[in-house]
Amino acid sequence: MIQSKIIQEQCEELFAQAAATLTNTFPKSGEGYTAAVLTKKGHIYTGASYCSDTYTLTMHGEAVALAHANLHGEREIVAITGPNCHICKQLIYENSLRSGIDILVIIKEKDKIKQIPISKLMPYPWPDKPNL
Ligand SMILES: [Zn+2]
Repeated sequence: MIQSKIIQEQCEELFAQAAATLTNTFPKSGEGYTAAVLTKKGHIYTGASYCSDTYTLTMHGEAVALAHANLHGEREIVAITGPNCHICKQLIYENSLRSGIDILVIIKEKDKIKQIPISKLMPYPWPDKPNL
């Protein structure tokens, strides 16, 4: 599993683009959650939550960001903004299993940026022995 760190400027850019995407949350602009991913090619793709009245059908910003990158043919994700809910952590983890990249979850905590590999956030992952 490949794991690395990204530079501070990339982390800040991820947060900035995720914040700028808040205007694209659905159904109300500015209400919901957003995320940004950094791909191996160095591109950033954002996602905004798309809420359903059922809630079950709601798409989280992280899922939309991963799908957004995929739509551009980029499946190798290096980093994603966090923190993330457990559903999204599962999606991120599964993406890392497929790419072989231990995706960094970038978290800003009291103005300090942390880069935490998704593998560290999934101590008892499913599937534990992937057959992807
Ligand atoms: Zn989520």
